[in-house]
Amino acid sequence: MYRSHTCGELRESDINTKVTLSGWVQKTRDKGFVVWVDLRDRYGITQLVFDEDRTSSKLLEQARSLGREYVVQVTGEVIERTSKNPNIPTGGIEVLVDEVILLNKSKTPPFTIENETDGGEDLRMKYRYLDIRRNPVKNNLIFRSKVSMEVRKYLSDHSFVEVETPYLIKSTPEGARDFVVPSRMNEGQFYALPQSPQTFKQLLMVGGMDKYFQIVKCFRDEDLRADRQPEFTQIDCEMAFVEQEDILDTFEGLTKHLLKEIKGVEISAFPRITYDDAMRIYGNDKPDIRFGMEFGELNAVTQHKDFGVFNSAELVVGIAVPGGASYTRKELDALVNWVKRPQVGAKGMVYVKYNEDGSFKSTVDKFYDQEDLAKWAKITEAKPGDLICVLSGDANKTRTQLSALRMELAERLGLRNPNEFAPLWVIDFPLLELDEETGNYHAMHHPFTSPKPGQLELLETDPGAVRANAYDLVLNGNEIGGGSIRIHDRDVQSTMFKHLGFTPEEAQAQFGFLMDAFQYGAPPHGGIAFGLDRLVSILGGQETIRDFIAFPKNNSGRDVMIDAPAAIDREQLHELKLKLDIEA
Ligand code: ASP
Repeated sequence: MYRSHTCGELRESDINTKVTLSGWVQKTRDKGFVVWVDLRDRYGITQLVFDEDRTSSKLLEQARSLGREYVVQVTGEVIERTSKNPNIPTGGIEVLVDEVILLNKSKTPPFTIENETDGGEDLRMKYRYLDIRRNPVKNNLIFRSKVSMEVRKYLSDHSFVEVETPYLIKSTPEGARDFVVPSRMNEGQFYALPQSPQTFKQLLMVGGMDKYFQIVKCFRDEDLRADRQPEFTQIDCEMAFVEQEDILDTFEGLTKHLLKEIKGVEISAFPRITYDDAMRIYGNDKPDIRFGMEFGELNAVTQHKDFGVFNSAELVVGIAVPGGASYTRKELDALVNWVKRPQVGAKGMVYVKYNEDGSFKSTVDKFYDQEDLAKWAKITEAKPGDLICVLSGDANKTRTQLSALRMELAERLGLRNPNEFAPLWVIDFPLLELDEETGNYHAMHHPFTSPKPGQLELLETDPGAVRANAYDLVLNGNEIGGGSIRIHDRDVQSTMFKHLGFTPEEAQAQFGFLMDAFQYGAPPHGGIAFGLDRLVSILGGQETIRDFIAFPKNNSGRDVMIDAPAAIDREQLHELKLKLDIEA
């Protein structure tokens, strides 16, 4: 038996008990006549004591020879500590050791295995197995497991069945590039790794499974923007005989369950906002509603006043920044420069100080008097002491820029409290999205999403106006889930493919299996998928999903620990009948 107890378990009530512990040497303190060793395992740290008076000198020598991260098994007696450590649960006791068995040595670790480590990100990723020994990483993985368990619990309590779907499949268009896998048995042919199990879960509905879920890996070969992973995990769900309302209800229930069980937070009905309103009020389809700073559209009160910049703008829009009237000139200049950074892209910014005494001071006093500015304040809901920031130009771009400013200011003002949870449904998404570059429409969610009832005809005349039964669940400014009611009729699905620019032959070749299935009694169905990595990191109150993934990839999609991706040898290429022709 390697251990009778864990290193996090012993208390004063265990004094005089004979115990066996196994773990890693966190550190050794040698006072000459007495040596203390901190022994660590997943559960905590227990202090071991080797004392000249009470142990043999051989044992004391052995204790001195233990290096950091050595793996040992010790046996001894639990005794009361003379100087107790109230900061750790085992701080009242120590183990007076009478036997040490060295289970394994360790090289000196490349960084300290402490809560605050001296190891940089790259080093920690290369030695991720050592990083996982550290409390912050270990606790995140345990936290993730707890979230997954609660998901499974809730869904199985609601009659969902977890069904695995294949990883070696044909392309599922979810808007990214596929990772492909060559098939040895089918020369020259490739599988694609699923961007999501979308078509399979729909086929499970045709198969009568009724309520499906799966905690599943998805693969998307995208350029890795900050905090994206080429492989990530979804809580993927689908239900038959449902309308949008049923889905929202079920998964609002799941989210509430998680918030309650994991965070002890109870939230009543989640607010809902249409996509159009979200864009108008927050300039963003995943608004963070933990704070206000809602957009106020100012066209009516700013145009036709000789200020050319505003007069020629499609949209003039502002937000009120709480307490911003006290910003110094230097701070304001910095803010203007911030919106002009290429990442944000505004040409400039007009601002108005709404002074505590009720007067206004703006950068456009030449064109607007106090009465005008009072109207701006009313529309942006500014109060004395606030700063009104106004951007103008092309409507879509300006909204995006102001949204970036809103988020930045909220961050600076500490309004994005990670311990506050503000979920929100965004509904009525457009079915299609215009690709500005190619002029083509593509599916905003995916091609299997159903238009709102009665809008099929509109596809012919005004495709951009068609709304879908598609919804996102947003939490604290992050999309944590998205889904839709699906098309379940063959003809509608082929019309949809036609509008997305597929010829009937292409549609049949790529998605014939799904359209054929629709001919055999496909029930009405719909679903949703949550991004588990992101959900866990938000619930954990942290920014980066990487911290909640045991073995994540870096920004170039590499696993630096196992050094993947890597070249394969000639023999493997030969077997696959592949020849590399890599351009220099
Ligand atoms: N397959 C979709 C996605 O990955 C989710 C869904 O529509 O259920 O975003």
